[in-house]
Amino acid sequence: MTPLLKNQAFINGKWIAASDHSTFEVINPANGEIIERVSDCAEAEVKMAIDAAWNAWQSWKNRTAYDRCNLLRKWFELIGKNKMELADIMTREQGKPLHEAEGEIQYAASFVEWFAAEGLRTYGETIPAPASKSRFVTIRQPVGVVAAITPWNFPSAMITRKVAPALAAGCTVIVKPSEETPFSALALAALAEKAGIPSGVLNVVTTKNAPLFSDIIFSNKRVRKISFTGSTPVGKKLMKAASDSIKKISLELGGNAPFIVFEDAHIKQAVKGVRTAKFRNNGQACIAANRIFVHETIYEKFASELVGRVEKMRIGGGTEKGVELGPMINEGACNKLDRLIADAVKKGANILNSNANNEKSGLFYPPVVLGNCSEKMDIFHEEIFGPVAALYVFKDFDEVIKMANNTNHGLAAYLYSQDVARCWTAAEQLEYGMTGINSGFISDASTPFGGIKESGIGREGSRYGIDEYLEIKYMSFGGISTN
Ligand code: NAD
Repeated sequence: MTPLLKNQAFINGKWIAASDHSTFEVINPANGEIIERVSDCAEAEVKMAIDAAWNAWQSWKNRTAYDRCNLLRKWFELIGKNKMELADIMTREQGKPLHEAEGEIQYAASFVEWFAAEGLRTYGETIPAPASKSRFVTIRQPVGVVAAITPWNFPSAMITRKVAPALAAGCTVIVKPSEETPFSALALAALAEKAGIPSGVLNVVTTKNAPLFSDIIFSNKRVRKISFTGSTPVGKKLMKAASDSIKKISLELGGNAPFIVFEDAHIKQAVKGVRTAKFRNNGQACIAANRIFVHETIYEKFASELVGRVEKMRIGGGTEKGVELGPMINEGACNKLDRLIADAVKKGANILNSNANNEKSGLFYPPVVLGNCSEKMDIFHEEIFGPVAALYVFKDFDEVIKMANNTNHGLAAYLYSQDVARCWTAAEQLEYGMTGINSGFISDASTPFGGIKESGIGREGSRYGIDEYLEIKYMSFGGISTN
């Protein structure tokens, strides 16, 4: 067992068992085996973590930004040095192919590097005052104790995208990772400890009882900020709960991304884009292409090229060589795909690829390309979260923009065209926080990640990401004599 595979919660710099010694099992989705059991924390541990984070905050907020930067840099370097071990843990608990897990570790580390530096630039400003004896200034200060609740689909990056800006800003954090993937979070905490990040600054509370965790967090006045990444229904519940004590809240929620292929698109590039935007992480991504709209004049050619590509995809355990699609996370996720496909077929969709009907085994789900989809199908409105590519035909620009915006979500969109003016106009009219143009890959630590409408509030990454963890304070000086 790698020393980074920890099976207890990490609170105030110590590895902690639940007070009643309860644990829960974490399953490898590729083979159904138990990887290890982990502490199932309850009220006592959550309260212990809040106290630890609160106490640590009293000194962490007063460290210089340079001190915090240096510690984050050490954490970044350790994540890089342990990339293979971290990737192996991730593949075992989450299922994604090892090369994708390595990519995620690099992506996760990039947030630590980025925000280590951003922490040095949390400037205030001076504001010209209307009276000669007045001076107006702003400073920015850390919000305080932060609770970060994260999903299973990107078990490392969704943590560093919150923890790195929070720590750089001078906040302390309690992470509650998904019960499906606690080990990636604990391994990151072990490396933070090794980097010298002080006790209580980063805490990881593992529990199967997410509502209990959030009840305690929301009712505690010392916790000033919640940052959540997960599904829209849970995000809505948390937003309501935050109103009781007016906590700051950031929400990174579900998506329903349109992927538009205009008549002048480079078809091979667009198919490559679908490979990334639809099938990465087995389609289990908030920014996954959910509805692929193809212009009627190129629909047949595009569909046949995509089918050719999908028929070559190898499914298997993430540690096997050459595997492109790992297992789904659990049975519920497979059942959802069965339901969406059956509904679409009943309402007129066709399954286009020959490997779609390969025998299913365990949580391995063969990729599916569905042609002739329409707005009346459930698959149009729901987040698919699996390797199912739903194709829609469109005739003109206005029609496709209207269809693309016909959803409550607004996270990511993609469009393919050689015409710059068309791309610009479409990107302006699409009601989405992010648009990939002739690119199926949009994520980078330097860019603002986040959605509009029911896809969330706030931005992560980029120079804006640290604002979520800072309060602006304004000071008005009077009585300043200019003689
Ligand atoms: P989820 O909402 O079920 O769970 C997310 C986290 O919330 C987990 O830690 C879970 O334990 C916790 N949780 C669940 N119920 C809770 C409750 N009542 N109170 C407090 N916490 C609770 O989502 P998931 O299945 O883990 O992740 C998939 C979802 O996350 C998808 O909808 C996906 O689009 C979204 N997601 C969004 C982004 C983004 O950046 N916008 C990134 C990744 C995933």
